[in-house]
Amino acid sequence: MLTKIADLEDPDARELLGNVTVVSRLDAFLEEKNTPRLPRRGTFTASDLGSWDGNSFCGDYKVGCARKLWYRHRGEVEQRSNIAPTLRRRLDLGTAGHEMLDGYFEKIAEESGGSEEFVPEHQINPEDGTSEVAWEWGIIVRVDGVYSIHLSDPVHIRFCLEFKTETEQNFQKVLKKPKPEHVTQLMVGMACWDLPAGVLVYINLNSGAMVEHRVLFDQNHWNAVTEKMRYVRKYSINNIEPNREDGFHCKYCKYKWVCAPPSKKKRKVHTIRMPGGG
Ligand code: SF4
Repeated sequence: MLTKIADLEDPDARELLGNVTVVSRLDAFLEEKNTPRLPRRGTFTASDLGSWDGNSFCGDYKVGCARKLWYRHRGEVEQRSNIAPTLRRRLDLGTAGHEMLDGYFEKIAEESGGSEEFVPEHQINPEDGTSEVAWEWGIIVRVDGVYSIHLSDPVHIRFCLEFKTETEQNFQKVLKKPKPEHVTQLMVGMACWDLPAGVLVYINLNSGAMVEHRVLFDQNHWNAVTEKMRYVRKYSINNIEPNREDGFHCKYCKYKWVCAPPSKKKRKVHTIRMPGGG
């Protein structure tokens, strides 16, 4: 027994501490989170749409790989992620940071005397009845917050807030402009909440520094997203697999196990073309 200070008198009890491992317990717990799961049939998510693994048909925007969107939309094969415990901890730290920031903004709004309103992180699901756009396209989307500020009577602005945590190295890359896939995610959020603007806030995980980018809703960008969703739905209904948009990003794909992208050492990123106005 090693439960009280007095137990330290017993040399055998002292040895018991050697059996205690905290990190490996946690690692095993976090490994379990990689359990395969079936996605919800007939849906898209903002994070899959706003992903670096694909492009819009016009080539101007980042919109997720059509094959990946198709797997999700069909809902027939499991998503198998392989996130190492170290990365999982980093991602969860990012999520915890977002909750902390949400708390700050809630407090700021509370103390504004009614001139500001902040609705912290919430999710829209197609069946909620809160968004016609989400219902029409089957979109599941979450934003970190919806902010409403009365600048002066009657000047009023509403926008969504999205936080992203980055390592020092990646933070340097977003100082001047946001990642294009994050702008697509924001565009999906704006379309579903009917918001004219959004702000992307990047947080440096190492230093706590922040940088913000303001984005206006862009109809052309949104059209590019809906064009790809329309294409995926058509292929889903007709049970035809879209071409892969394969590249180095496939390494991180939840559907790599079933898609089996070519394993050439140096793959080019392939962009699919919209077939005949499909
Ligand atoms: S493995 Fe690559 S090509 Fe296949 S679905 Fe995933 S991202 Fe697309």
